[in-house]
Amino acid sequence: MRIGIPDQAPSGISPDVTAFLKAPKMLINGQSVGGEAPGFDVFNPADGSVLAQVPTASEADVDRAVLAARAAMAGAWGGMPGAERTRLMLRLADLIEENGEELAQLETLENGKSIMLSRLVEVASSAEYLRYMAGWATKIRGETFDVSIAVPPGTRYTAYTRKEPVGVVAAITPWNFPLNMCVWKVAPALAAGCAVVLKPAEETPLTSLRFAELAREAGFPDGVVNVITGDGATGAALVQHPGVDKITFTGSTEVGKKIGTKAMETVKPVTLELGGKAPMVFFDDMDLNLLGPATGIGMFFNSGQTCCAGARIYVQKGIYEEAVATLKAITSSLPIGDGMNPANQINPVVSAKHFDHVKGMIARGIADGATPLLDIAAPGQGYYVAPQLFADARSDTAIMQDEVFGPVATITPFETEEEAIAMANDTRYGLGASLWTRDINRVMKLVPQVQAGTVWVNSHNIPDQNMPFGGFKQSGIGREHGTGALDNYLETKSVCVAYS
Ligand code: NAD
Repeated sequence: MRIGIPDQAPSGISPDVTAFLKAPKMLINGQSVGGEAPGFDVFNPADGSVLAQVPTASEADVDRAVLAARAAMAGAWGGMPGAERTRLMLRLADLIEENGEELAQLETLENGKSIMLSRLVEVASSAEYLRYMAGWATKIRGETFDVSIAVPPGTRYTAYTRKEPVGVVAAITPWNFPLNMCVWKVAPALAAGCAVVLKPAEETPLTSLRFAELAREAGFPDGVVNVITGDGATGAALVQHPGVDKITFTGSTEVGKKIGTKAMETVKPVTLELGGKAPMVFFDDMDLNLLGPATGIGMFFNSGQTCCAGARIYVQKGIYEEAVATLKAITSSLPIGDGMNPANQINPVVSAKHFDHVKGMIARGIADGATPLLDIAAPGQGYYVAPQLFADARSDTAIMQDEVFGPVATITPFETEEEAIAMANDTRYGLGASLWTRDINRVMKLVPQVQAGTVWVNSHNIPDQNMPFGGFKQSGIGREHGTGALDNYLETKSVCVAYS
């Protein structure tokens, strides 16, 4: 079923969704696989009910998936011209749109997010991302070099580089934007000519499993796209498999460090997109009308479960009282409820475990001396956390230093630009940041001083397929998107030819 109107509530769960939930399967070597080991439950965060049982990949399943990907690289896929890869990827993008409403409903059911976000971000922007990356498949190119080698006398040389697919890619994704993260990994890998084994997060495997079915329907040869499911142990087995040539991971800094360490044991290239604790810096001269989007998109997009979420708000003293009053009013006005109703802007967090984490961080913030500014009620059933803003948080406490990854932010006053930048940079993370001001001279002066992979100005939390994305410091290694995205999946070979 085609994607629904973004802000319209579904008239009911689509029959395709109901049918899919009965027996979701992994995809290994083009076959739907149920797995030998006992499966695991996937829950609906809106009410805590079990949505589906999903297979747990055994070590043998991991092995078969990696070997299938290797065989694909050695077979038809390895020799396929870029233009044919482009055509397959465009077909897959069309299929994502044609099945858009089913994918959007699945995403909202497993993740809890607004159906509007599922339709616009998970489905529509994933299809666009595939199309963008499909274009790069025909634009892979090396360079030629003049060389100065003079031995033996009379011999001449010419040198050039070839870009070759790195091989089998192990892709591991988190739960916050499940289909989007799947496509951010798989699309550039396919454009580069790699084969992929994807392991989505155990909380939200359903849209990746459906994506795998659509990849098969699009006509990708067997073994090019494999999706296996399980928890961190399955991810670890995949990372350690000797048949994997490249690891790409998006998730927490803690797990990223483990994966990076493992990857180095066999010197495998690894891309790490990790956590964040983004600052938003509001200067006295900012347009206060922007506090609406700053709150809805910057701070509480996806109920704050965004790696770039503006979690630390710094406000210059001249507008502090007014800005805090406005942020409180806007936050209090955000409707809380089930993601299937697009009017609800704060939806349940993803899982019971994450609910405990977010509530625990709020309690810890209070215990560490921060002042909660809001007292909002959340629905009792399901994993709902009411949004919270804190004042008086000390910079060395957990609420200022660690990811909450929920609808929670701190607000801190500052006086000077120097003070603001020092505060903004005062965490181990460096993924995103934003400066809010009308003064272009200030912007140009301060942007180089901000330690973050992306700095937004008068906006926040806006990624684009054409704009490199990744982290400074402990927010990661490498960049996704843009012209460089394929480099994550390509090796460079220098060729030096002697002639006389
Ligand atoms: P997580 O690190 O707990 O899990 C991510 C994935 O890693 C899951 O698929 C999980 O099963 C797997 N995993 C866990 N242990 C593993 C191991 N030892 N070896 C291999 N795989 C393992 O993260 P999460 O809770 O799913 O997601 C939230 C985190 O993701 C946040 O920290 C957030 O900031 C981050 N994130 C970052 C970006 C980015 O682009 N930088 C984007 C989205 C989310």
